[in-house]
Amino acid sequence: MPSTNNTIDRHYQMIDTDKSREIIRKAMEVARLEIPKGAVATYIPELGKMDPNRLGICLYPLVGEKICMGDYDTRFTMQSVSKILMLIVALELCGLKSVFKKVGAEPSGEAFNSLVELDLNNSKPYNPLINSGALAVCGMLLPEVSFQDMVRFAREICSDRDIVLNKDVYESEMRTCSRNRSIAYLLESKGIITTDVEDTLRFYTKMCSLNVTAESLANLGKKLANDGVCMLTGKRFMSSRTSRIVKTLMLTCGMYDGSGTFAIKVGIPSKSGVGGGLLSVSDKRAGIGVFGPALDAQGNSIAGIKLLREISNELRLNLFYDPEWNKEDDEEDTVIRRMADASVGI
Ligand code: GLN
Repeated sequence: MPSTNNTIDRHYQMIDTDKSREIIRKAMEVARLEIPKGAVATYIPELGKMDPNRLGICLYPLVGEKICMGDYDTRFTMQSVSKILMLIVALELCGLKSVFKKVGAEPSGEAFNSLVELDLNNSKPYNPLINSGALAVCGMLLPEVSFQDMVRFAREICSDRDIVLNKDVYESEMRTCSRNRSIAYLLESKGIITTDVEDTLRFYTKMCSLNVTAESLANLGKKLANDGVCMLTGKRFMSSRTSRIVKTLMLTCGMYDGSGTFAIKVGIPSKSGVGGGLLSVSDKRAGIGVFGPALDAQGNSIAGIKLLREISNELRLNLFYDPEWNKEDDEEDTVIRRMADASVGI
């Protein structure tokens, strides 16, 4: 029978809360085993102080109860997850054409802080979810909004009044950000950043240093899952087009040079940050926030990925949900990894 609620009108839906809770609880146990294989980020010295053993999740379905587990309310810095906020605001205020005149919409296959493509003639950052692209987006935002405006927006869209700047992390990154500084000056030399470079860098780094929780990310994810609209208040935070573009880029570029493999293993548009955060959006179904600061080689939460992988198909959150699918065994896993490493694609 067709659903009367258009928001969840899909041919399959999530399973009930009790079963979901049990599946997530088991997945947390499996995911914890991954923690020793990762490490917290140390290139921003303040992040090196984080406890790698933390793990938390908040899953907020469009219909059904919110499920919170582990360190779901621990504060950590948003880091690259804030690129989503910057992109939303840039698309809304500057428009699609202006944004994509300065940045591309293609996966880079490079590390998040790469600057290799920028020295080529006529090139621009591959996409807005890597550092170069986000710095270009910041250059566009600077004349339009203040950092305080962005904090207000973050608080509202994450339904979290306690989001503030983590000054220690901000200052720590400002002391060690020569790579981002190089990228920003290169972008200025190409005419992509036309605002003051140091101001742009400060704005970007402050956005990365906003303190959130897995629960705040789930709130943000839920609005994206519901086409940019808050289900409780009916407030629209962005156009449908912006919401669709952001989710698409999350799927193709959100996990940096791990995006393709992640899409195969998990199939949920996601954005990671080196603070250990993961924002995931199961379209029309749920917003998910994860916190797990031990990172893999790409700078993505190692236990967070495992956790999402364990629940994606069982909870029917995968974009390509497949009732026949069981998690690949280790052998297949190795094959996927080898193919990805050899960049031969799949
Ligand atoms: N602030 C970090 C940086 O610019 C964000 C990177 C990340 O989360 N991947 O290096």
